[in-house]
Amino acid sequence: MATSAYWRTRLCRYRLIGNRCQSCDRVFFPPRFMCPYCNSTKLEECKLPDRGRLLEYTIVYSTPKGYEAMTPYVVGLVELENGVRVLAQITDVNLENIKEGMEVEACIRRIPEQLEEKIICYTYKFRPVIK
Ligand SMILES: [Zn+2]
Repeated sequence: MATSAYWRTRLCRYRLIGNRCQSCDRVFFPPRFMCPYCNSTKLEECKLPDRGRLLEYTIVYSTPKGYEAMTPYVVGLVELENGVRVLAQITDVNLENIKEGMEVEACIRRIPEQLEEKIICYTYKFRPVIK
């Protein structure tokens, strides 16, 4: 990822920010310039809930260059408490304990990616809720 792209998307990476459409009132993620439901461009930022449940997941064994040390890792589709769905890495979980329907919460984790200016990058991931 280029440094400029990282900088542009940093807020939604750190705080799970989506958009609320002022025309149709729907909320979506990731943020866009236009509402995917009604094409309106009247959008406002919307903080999304940090908790949700894991709808589906897949275990990734074949990774892009630079991510080899993370293999295998889990990518899941999370439905947040307000119904918005987010695709993200699932972290802090043993592969044998992961299951669909489990409660998860957002957390911030470092990305093992080297940008040209050596900025340390972070992004959201989800981890199981500890009860
Ligand atoms: Zn809309």
